[in-house]
Amino acid sequence: MFKIVSQWWQRRLIQQSNVSEDAWSSAFARLPLLRRLTNKEKIRLQETAILLLHKKSFLGAHDLEVTEEMKLIIALQACLPILNLSIGWYRGWHSIIIYPAGFRPDHTYTDEAGVVHHEKRALSGEAWSRGPVILSWDEVKDAGIIDGENLVIHEFAHKLDMRNGIANGFPPLHKGMNKKQWAEVFTEAYDDLHYRLQNGQRSEIDSYAAHSPAEFFSVLSELFFERPGVIDTEYPDVYKLLSEFYKQDTLAKIT
Ligand SMILES: [Zn+2]
Repeated sequence: MFKIVSQWWQRRLIQQSNVSEDAWSSAFARLPLLRRLTNKEKIRLQETAILLLHKKSFLGAHDLEVTEEMKLIIALQACLPILNLSIGWYRGWHSIIIYPAGFRPDHTYTDEAGVVHHEKRALSGEAWSRGPVILSWDEVKDAGIIDGENLVIHEFAHKLDMRNGIANGFPPLHKGMNKKQWAEVFTEAYDDLHYRLQNGQRSEIDSYAAHSPAEFFSVLSELFFERPGVIDTEYPDVYKLLSEFYKQDTLAKIT
């Protein structure tokens, strides 16, 4: 019963959205990554983004004026990982804070409190457990380049990871997925990447992935959506598990 009411309510929110089709079209046009989606998927992504816009507050820091276009560009990317999951994966927190450029938070690095700092790009993003996602608009606006890096996907992947506690590269798995297999495959790949980096071997995976299992999951999630071939080549078993987790075969979209 609850599910039916919830679906009815969501449908109503989608129908009542006052974002124009022109605004959606121009946001989609700014994100070439989304051209890989079918028309049906684009509609579902847009509808999920409407729900995200309804559920989260978008706040500008340092006098940044948050425009509708900025919200749409963030929401569309944030909803790509949950395209075949549900908006419920982002429940339990309220705000998306946007800084004009890289920011300096006044807290120090810690994971124990459930805070994930993203230092790769001079703190361009953060995801707090049960707290906000913080993004630097300077980084988000470059999302038009498909280079394997995607700040929004990175931070929202941390949010998925945090659904069952601190970010540790082990999000809640779907029914039928094997936890032991996930732990073994990810640990082996993470250790291998460490080994390769320490021994001067080349990898197309950003070395930031070797910072922690949580960063490994988020950096590989960026690649999964932008350049899945890199994971399939270097760690095919990780690709398979990410594909099961996100319920998407991103590789099939580009081959
Ligand atoms: Zn991170």
